Amino acid sequence: SRPLGDLDPDVAAAVHAELRRQQSTLEMIASENFAPAAVLEAQGSVLTNKYAEGYPGRRYYGGCEHVDVVEQLAIDRVKELFGAEAANVQPHSGAQANAAAMFALLKPGDTILGLDLAHGGHLTHGMRINYSGKLYNVVPYHVRESDLRVDMDEVEQLALAHRPKMIVAGWSAYPRRLDFAAFRRIADAVGAYLMVDMAHFAGLVAAGLHPSPVPYADVVTTTTHKTLGGPRGGVILSRADLAKKINSAVFPGQQGGPLQHVIAAKAVAFKVAAGEEFKDRQRRTLKGAKILAGRLLADDVAEAGITVLTGGTEVHLILVDLRGSALDGQQAEDRLHRIGITVNRNAVPFDPRPPMVSSGLRIGTPALATRGFGDAEFREVADIVAEALKGERPDDELRARVERLAADFPLYPHLNGAPA
Ligand code: PLP
Repeated sequence: SRPLGDLDPDVAAAVHAELRRQQSTLEMIASENFAPAAVLEAQGSVLTNKYAEGYPGRRYYGGCEHVDVVEQLAIDRVKELFGAEAANVQPHSGAQANAAAMFALLKPGDTILGLDLAHGGHLTHGMRINYSGKLYNVVPYHVRESDLRVDMDEVEQLALAHRPKMIVAGWSAYPRRLDFAAFRRIADAVGAYLMVDMAHFAGLVAAGLHPSPVPYADVVTTTTHKTLGGPRGGVILSRADLAKKINSAVFPGQQGGPLQHVIAAKAVAFKVAAGEEFKDRQRRTLKGAKILAGRLLADDVAEAGITVLTGGTEVHLILVDLRGSALDGQQAEDRLHRIGITVNRNAVPFDPRPPMVSSGLRIGTPALATRGFGDAEFREVADIVAEALKGERPDDELRARVERLAADFPLYPHLNGAPA
């Protein structure tokens, strides 16, 4: 019963320092967000103690009557939120959701098509040393060099030539919407499953602000912690006739005991995502990304050799192209870090630099929208980013502007009394 600060001051101090970092800086990593206090509370609950192998009503352990309620709530809510026939809420992460969905529908050696990692795909869509690249025969597709959009002609040609068992549509770094109907048509033409990984844009879909892949895909995977704004974790949605295969691929295929405390937190996040406040937040997320793109496309930024890939965005992130700039991705990430803005460097398609350095930045707006930012604040942060990348203003001046914005939008004030 000793509190953390008393029992383990070292861990408590690091947790508190992380709280202070989140409060005092501006989080613009496109895959990050701030979970509501109620999600943190559910995730920090006694449900962490419970073993519950199996599924609600069919467990391999006694004493599951309460975690059954929680898991069924999560299943029902996420099905309703996305209009899906079936849902598995047990994957510990997005990567594990993808691994289980592939394990359910594919055999080792089967061919899959996925967006190349260097063009915005995820590791689990077929990267060479990821499980997906080791277990399956991966044929990558790409964005077109001319307009940097996913090349659906190439997808079709590769599908006809390689007859994949699955086509994976989804991305980690791509500022545009995918054409799910076109992917479905190509998958049907070659008898492939269509899996959509909507990890990045699930929150936009939930709010009705981005087309839903659910009507088109056989299986849809997602994380719950990006635009969706919940605890770290994964979910698999599917057609009803695939549910049994998918459930058995998650447990016992891939995992043992589910994380019931995280599943409780997922249930809370799905409830939040069904509300009006969440829709408003996703609207501000999209508008913020457009404001940011607009500022970084202005003449003064272009003169510094910096531009925005595809000339804008339709989602919650932008990709900044630094190939003509004096800064590489690493230097630009470091400069923003110095003034209190957190982003990640990112390869641009056809990047001449190695991935650890890269020539791009991925900048997202979900966390700032959750913090309460609207048009005026996004205009201010966009200007700060632009000035930082141009490199003409002193760091101290830009850092002061960041600190003012952070102070105006307090984060987790109820946690401030935590032990240092
Ligand atoms: N799928 C996509 C498209 C992602 O961008 C990510 C995470 O970055 C994942 C899956 C993996 O999620 P996790 O980090 O929870 O394993």
